[in-house]
Amino acid sequence: MHAVIIRQQGGPEVLHWQEVPTPEPGPGEVRVRLRAAALNHLDVWNRTGVPDGPGALKGRIPGADGAGVVDQVGPGVDPAWVDRRVVINPGISCGRCQACLSGWDTLCREYTVLGTGRDGTYAEYVTVPAANLLPMPPRLSFEEAAAFPLTFLTAWHMLVALARVQPGESVLVWGAGSGVGVAAIQVARLFSAQVFATVGSDEKLERALELGAARVFNHTNQDVHSEVKALTGKRGVDVVVEHTGEATWDQSVRALAPRGRLVTCGATTGPNGATHLRHLFAKQLQILGSYMGSKSELWELLPHVNEGRLRPVVDSVHPLAGAAEAHRRMDERQHFGKIVLRVD
Ligand SMILES: [Zn+2]
Repeated sequence: MHAVIIRQQGGPEVLHWQEVPTPEPGPGEVRVRLRAAALNHLDVWNRTGVPDGPGALKGRIPGADGAGVVDQVGPGVDPAWVDRRVVINPGISCGRCQACLSGWDTLCREYTVLGTGRDGTYAEYVTVPAANLLPMPPRLSFEEAAAFPLTFLTAWHMLVALARVQPGESVLVWGAGSGVGVAAIQVARLFSAQVFATVGSDEKLERALELGAARVFNHTNQDVHSEVKALTGKRGVDVVVEHTGEATWDQSVRALAPRGRLVTCGATTGPNGATHLRHLFAKQLQILGSYMGSKSELWELLPHVNEGRLRPVVDSVHPLAGAAEAHRRMDERQHFGKIVLRVD
């Protein structure tokens, strides 16, 4: 088969289109003939290495998100899966330990994300455990189906499982054009919360409003913390959805209302965040760390995707062989929504 391999640490040019052996499904696994894959910021980390963290994944096929058709099953898997259209749940875990069985499979000692601990979806075929398959929403194209699992799962875990967002609450979402931002706005709206969002360029303001944000700020030229305080009568917001880290952390903490919750799933601008501790205890704030979401949560949100209440937003579609060009678009932050790779 053909696949995209990370050859070495570096820019988009290290993504190399080449012929590799077609994988065979092991016990409990299936092989999926991919029709689309989607980019996540995680793929960029896997290419560049994380500052103060793990290096690049040399020799690995990246890609956590994918949709396609099951073409082969391994030993012990129901052959009825063959020819079914599926989306892939990107979190892989043992399925047997206490963490897995209690719905916290993200804390399984064997937990890994597809395309990180094992070969991912930038390929014509991928093998995954059968437990990682979901039926593809019939109303979606393959490109749209590949565009929702990781980011909607992440946003759902942040807002529903951890921050427990309530109707009528207010939520601030940083980076409305990012995958997590697009998902978080919609999940917060689904729970009847009022959403304030930020974008990095004026061209994206309108798109964020269309997704349901009540107000949108350009964080490159507006003081988000002051704007939020002004709009809420100095009270602040009940929930902040953080994934940018160092550049926004202080504003995020100060934007919180009493008993507010800051939930974070990433630190794309840097890992350090100073926290004003008097705000933290006097206002009785909560800071919640979030990583991916459990397999069951993807099943929980699937009906909302099936019925159109949550909808993936596709920024652009590129051929799989053009993955480097797609990564360039993500590096330059030109996108709004998911950058998708089409597998022909
Ligand atoms: Zn486990």
